[in-house]
Amino acid sequence: DSFYRQLPKVELHAHLNGSISVATMENLISRKPHLNVQHSMTAIHKGQHRTLGQAFQAFKVIHQLVDTEEDILMVAKAVIGEFAADGVKYLELRSTPREETKTGLTKRMYVETVIEGIRQCKQEGLDIEVRFLVAVDRRNGPQVAMETVKLAEDLMVSSDGVVVGLDLSGDPKVGHGKDFVPALQKAKNCGLKLALHLSEIPSQKEESELLLTLPPDRIGHGTFLHPEVGGSQSLVDKVREKNIPLELCLTSNVKGLSVPSYDKHHFLYWYQLGHPCVLCTDDKGVFSTELSQEYQLAASTFGLSQEAVWTLSQQAISCSFAPGPLKEALSQRWVSLRPQVF
Ligand code: IMP
Repeated sequence: DSFYRQLPKVELHAHLNGSISVATMENLISRKPHLNVQHSMTAIHKGQHRTLGQAFQAFKVIHQLVDTEEDILMVAKAVIGEFAADGVKYLELRSTPREETKTGLTKRMYVETVIEGIRQCKQEGLDIEVRFLVAVDRRNGPQVAMETVKLAEDLMVSSDGVVVGLDLSGDPKVGHGKDFVPALQKAKNCGLKLALHLSEIPSQKEESELLLTLPPDRIGHGTFLHPEVGGSQSLVDKVREKNIPLELCLTSNVKGLSVPSYDKHHFLYWYQLGHPCVLCTDDKGVFSTELSQEYQLAASTFGLSQEAVWTLSQQAISCSFAPGPLKEALSQRWVSLRPQVF
């Protein structure tokens, strides 16, 4: 629907390697035929479901397909271009620095290549502002997390403001949040914003309590924070008291089976509280979606008017990690693009 595509949008929760489109994936697969990858291994199509664990298998396959500087640059530029074509005006991409001994790729080269992709898109005049969050994969443990934070600190200085924050993600069943507190604290102290996956699975109540002692700047998913689904009122109170925005990914949660159906998505709980909620894609490639589709889905599921949808997309600006002047410029842009009548 053209309203949702034309709606100016802010995307705050997008994992680079989960965001690869079918067309780009075809290109990658044809470059590495020896890997024998089928599309069904890298994406969950319409009407299909997989457990979160199975979805993580897809990332393993994708990582094999994206393992050189050339691949990363191509993927980063394609993903940014696709978000721009979908009406996203401000994008925060996140990705886990990866080294590949086979190709000589280092973690620093990895992030620098993504940043180069962001620069090239800007030079080419794409109508989208892009910032980057360095991701910590919990599977790799606290020591790697600390090294990643050091890399992020360095790059925050050298990237001319492109690197703005740190993400904590990866398989929620692996590791415990408390192990990451020192690394997260260090990141926060040096001015990196924190976007943490929190309560993505039911058993993470204690972990979420703990991570909220070091309040993140945004929460990814937060699916099981509220008491109706086994969270607690005290968790909800903390999130509300600190006014921490939630990044909510409808299709990802339904296809990944952490939420039973769209109408049961926790968007409704938080939206009704008037809490800042930002619709996001998570992994538009793996979950076969687009941000415009997520807005349309939220509108049709929860009966939001076009005006309410507009307000939702506008409010996402203030939840971003963009510097003040950019937030101001984006707000102006929304004002100038706003339809006279809905
Ligand atoms: P990358 O960091 O660009 O390689 O993107 C893929 C990675 O993002 C995965 O290996 C996970 O660590 C992380 N990721 C993607 N989607 C999710 C999710 O739904 N929950 C937790 N982590 C995720």
